[in-house]
Amino acid sequence: MQLSRRLDTLAKAVSPGHRIADIGTDHGFVPIVLVESGKCPGAIAADVHEGPLQRAKDHIKEVGLSDRIATKQTDGLDGIDPDDVDTVLIAGMGGSLMERILSDHPEFFAAGKEFVLSPQSEWFKIRKLLRRMSYRIIQEWFLFEDGKYYVVMKAGPIPDHDQISPVSSQERQDLEDLFGPYLLQVKDETLRSYMLLQRDKKKEILARLEREGVAWEKSAGLAQELRMVEKALAILSPKGEDKMRYCMECGTKLKERLLEKEGMVPYCEKCKTFRFPVFSTAVSMEVLNPARDKVLLIKQYGKDKYILVAGYVSKGENAEDTVVREVMEEVGLRVTGLHFEKSEYFAPSNTLMLNFSCVVESEDLSHIARDEIDYCRWFSFEEAKTYIAPGSLASRFLNRFLEKQEAIGESL
Ligand SMILES: [Zn+2]
Repeated sequence: MQLSRRLDTLAKAVSPGHRIADIGTDHGFVPIVLVESGKCPGAIAADVHEGPLQRAKDHIKEVGLSDRIATKQTDGLDGIDPDDVDTVLIAGMGGSLMERILSDHPEFFAAGKEFVLSPQSEWFKIRKLLRRMSYRIIQEWFLFEDGKYYVVMKAGPIPDHDQISPVSSQERQDLEDLFGPYLLQVKDETLRSYMLLQRDKKKEILARLEREGVAWEKSAGLAQELRMVEKALAILSPKGEDKMRYCMECGTKLKERLLEKEGMVPYCEKCKTFRFPVFSTAVSMEVLNPARDKVLLIKQYGKDKYILVAGYVSKGENAEDTVVREVMEEVGLRVTGLHFEKSEYFAPSNTLMLNFSCVVESEDLSHIARDEIDYCRWFSFEEAKTYIAPGSLASRFLNRFLEKQEAIGESL
């Protein structure tokens, strides 16, 4: 059975040898995979609705696991004995409902059961509840699939020797509830993508409210959310060499010196010059067909993932000219129109990426540069969302571009 990445992650999160209770089981896929693979000796598949439970029953029967997977029509954990379960798995419902289900049955926490939880909204409610119950998030996954972000938390009781852990500041605790202590600690790259989108959206809304002259009290909540997102982004930022240490002309060790309005800037005492950070500039493009309903994605350098056409800006060149040149060099097509979309600094390659959308003269891909591109093809916008390398800078640009297209489409 082929599971989606999210269901696969749920199954992966469950500890081996555990008997699971899958609450809101829907099709019963997760318990089937876990029991069929031998990872779990048995399971309870529960659902409050008759229809989904019947579907689960049919599937379980089809694969001949009716003796090891029991089905139960019940609301949440009602009527389930903690002694029959090692891991409680709940996915595919909102955070509030999940919080209610878990709060109704503290006996599962008291008994130290494992939880694997994937709330669809209000993630912070679940993280707060876990903390109240003296539980900790052992591991957490942040996924992007079919145009949506998902979180999966694996939680267990805090071991006794960790009970007197140093209390983190209120602010850090709030950040951890909102964005996940584990994800922040490991600087999760998908979470960072999500947060960058959140930051842009909130900024755009705030700017609009300001333009419309809406009283600041009304946007104060949103401004506070934006501050939290920016604080989390500061934690999630990969550590980059953002300041130069040696002079690029003479190699002398640089010293920091105060420059008016700029703050402390590296200074070369030999050249008597301030040395500002040096970085590369590149462009990436949503290349659109003449009808503007398909986008071109490519595979490059032997890597099995789809990205956008991109290239470095040469010294002395306009970024607009780079777009035209790179599209011609890489896919052999003439650009008939282009539009600047968004920029983002990419720390791993110390590059400022400028993203453009551009339209080309035809869909003909017979002139692609075989030495530069392994494979490329046209995708519908919906397809492109699922094929673009998840969590990548290219996916952030593409998703933002497609969201904008959808917003334009709706307003027409
Ligand atoms: Zn120097």
